[in-house]
Amino acid sequence: MIKTSVASLDNNDPLREVASQFHKPEGVIYLDGNSLGLMPHCVAKRIETVTREQWGNDLIASWNKHHWIDLSRNVGDKIASLLGADYGQVACCDSISINLFKVLCAALSINSERKKILSTEDNFPTDLYMVQGLEALLGHHRCELVMVEEGQLAEAVDEDTAAVLVTEVNFRTGNIVDIAGLTQVVHKHGALVIVDLAHSAGVLPIALDKHQIDFAVGCTYKYLNAGPGAPGFVYASKRHHEKLVQPLFGWMGHANGFAFSPLYSPAQDINQMLVGTPPVISLSAVDAALDIYDGLSLDTIRNKSKQLTNVFLELLKASNASKELTCISPLDAERRGSQLSFEFEHAYALCQALIEVGVIADFRAPNFIRFGVSPLYTHFHELAEAVEKINDILVYKTYLASRFQTRNKVT
Ligand SMILES: *Cc1c(COP(=O)(O)O)cnc(C)c1O
Repeated sequence: MIKTSVASLDNNDPLREVASQFHKPEGVIYLDGNSLGLMPHCVAKRIETVTREQWGNDLIASWNKHHWIDLSRNVGDKIASLLGADYGQVACCDSISINLFKVLCAALSINSERKKILSTEDNFPTDLYMVQGLEALLGHHRCELVMVEEGQLAEAVDEDTAAVLVTEVNFRTGNIVDIAGLTQVVHKHGALVIVDLAHSAGVLPIALDKHQIDFAVGCTYKYLNAGPGAPGFVYASKRHHEKLVQPLFGWMGHANGFAFSPLYSPAQDINQMLVGTPPVISLSAVDAALDIYDGLSLDTIRNKSKQLTNVFLELLKASNASKELTCISPLDAERRGSQLSFEFEHAYALCQALIEVGVIADFRAPNFIRFGVSPLYTHFHELAEAVEKINDILVYKTYLASRFQTRNKVT
């Protein structure tokens, strides 16, 4: 019964063929695309070209000949089309952490009379750490991190709030924050909004311009499949380009870097977010990975994502597993991103036991197991197989074996 219904879901899946553009290791069901997306074949091919032909043969001429120098901007524009942003507002560079430093400083420079950065206790730690670093650098009279619960952001904004730093999709629970509604409240108080799109970009329709978001950051190695450590992106609304200051004055952000002037003068456009020499190889990987989105609609992607998490939940409910795993994600698909997370006392060991049978999920401290689904390459039948394996491990308590108890450095 279940087998036939997942088969028909796969047959009717408008994105079914997209999976063939990715390398899937034999015998693996990959439910961790929200940590590191699968490798697209076109990325491997592009890296081959960039290294052998561009770097190998054309060497330094490639900065002009192959437009390496414009990659951050051009790739940024490609990302912009996934974010509901007009061209010229997104740059692909650095990591989320570094980009957060820049936009936090930019927000504090625009709202220089205010010091509070409001965020949530369960935001991704690096987001909170970057604010704490700024506090240490500037002093508490210039920057103060205030943390509240996710549902309390809107009511906590006040006239001393410089910016609200919010992650749209909670990395642990998958809960979606209503960015549009929150931004209206934040702007009423004269504060700015910085949105982290780490778990949104590529799986959720996003409308940064329409909702008047001030700044946004995100990465490309999760749902955008650009590979480990590929550069992130930063969005700064055009409204702010003239008056913002981001203090990482690097030559790539200079109005005319190749004049080699001893004095810094920032570019007046999104280029002012750039700092140093771009990582051309991984930036080219982002460029190639984004081509997979050509002709695909984010609404279709989002619909499949909701269907995938719904089916996964239903299958778990129909098995014994739901008695042991407590779902911490919203039960309404509209309110969650492309993942399901569960609390389970032996979450780490369960995760390890699943890896042994070819199901890759991930563990998040202290005792959560997180299953990410990627509408671009997850098939419905894979979910049915994964649930069977999860159920077996729970029934036979395989996770209690000692080999599943030792923790690796990266969990
Ligand atoms: C993955 C993730 C990060 C990672 O930041 P990096 O600087 O790219 O390592 C940051 N924030 C959120 C919400 C994330 O999910």
